[in-house]
Amino acid sequence: MNLLIVGSVAYDTVETPFGKAEKALGGTATFGSVSASYFAKPGIVGVVGNDFDRKHINLLKKRGVDLEGLQVDPSGKTFHWSGYYEGDMNQAITRDTQLNVFESFQPTLPESYRKAPFLFLGNILPGLQLEVLDQMKDPELILCDSMNLWIETQPKELEKVFRRSDVICINDSEVRQFCNTSTISKAAKELLKLGATRVIIKLGGYGVQLYGKDTFFALPALPLSNVKDPTGAGDTFAGGFIGRLAKSRTLNENAFRRALATGTVMASYCVQDFSCRKTANLKPSDIEKRLTELKQITRWS
Ligand code: AMP
Repeated sequence: MNLLIVGSVAYDTVETPFGKAEKALGGTATFGSVSASYFAKPGIVGVVGNDFDRKHINLLKKRGVDLEGLQVDPSGKTFHWSGYYEGDMNQAITRDTQLNVFESFQPTLPESYRKAPFLFLGNILPGLQLEVLDQMKDPELILCDSMNLWIETQPKELEKVFRRSDVICINDSEVRQFCNTSTISKAAKELLKLGATRVIIKLGGYGVQLYGKDTFFALPALPLSNVKDPTGAGDTFAGGFIGRLAKSRTLNENAFRRALATGTVMASYCVQDFSCRKTANLKPSDIEKRLTELKQITRWS
């Protein structure tokens, strides 16, 4: 295990103009770990309830995800998120959030997880992200994600998480909201002042931007004509990004750019089906093929 991922393990009920999935496997830690598993050895810390299907445990195990840190709480049901998309496929509209066993979740890290060199703090209550950080023994790279809910309700706690992170991964509307400005590059630079070495701004179907102190890089999303469900694309991106870094263990600008491309490719597969149906069943050659395609469409002279 060289990459610890903390976040929700969920059942998602999702409706898009292209179909519907009921109680499909989801959650930030799920999407992140499935994606990262092609490059690193991820382990997850999260909780599921008494309704969590054995076949989903098997799916994660098959991907080589370490589940020692996955708690099973028999007293209730698994976290359930329900949402839909209409028109703007970049914006999920939440219909319902049932926290269930996630409500009393305490992220206790198994001893063997504390020394993980790479940490992906998926979107959970910022206070819990801080508890995880307190249990870690000097990781080489901490990447954090969050969501509008915590920006609105817990901005001070979230700022503490940002201050302790090396890479902040956030989407465009969230960064504008957090920094209270309409200009993304200005907001990204403000976040960098909190201490992170890189800030990643996710632009949904429009691509992704990578800001460093004196560097800037951007990639478009792959131009797909069959997008079915964008749920989990952000976590899949982040899992691929940090998984690629964990594989190379190099943290220079080139490595970050390569990781950005890897995350972009993984997210491109995620959006082409519901849940992690596509990302759980890739061949290394599928990933290589799209990396080459991405390279081709971004090269110019
Ligand atoms: P994204 O990558 O942003 O599309 O993340 C989608 C995933 O976030 C879904 O699988 C949901 O189960 C999960 N999710 C939604 N709301 C929350 C929440 N409040 N806390 C943790 N995870 C959530």
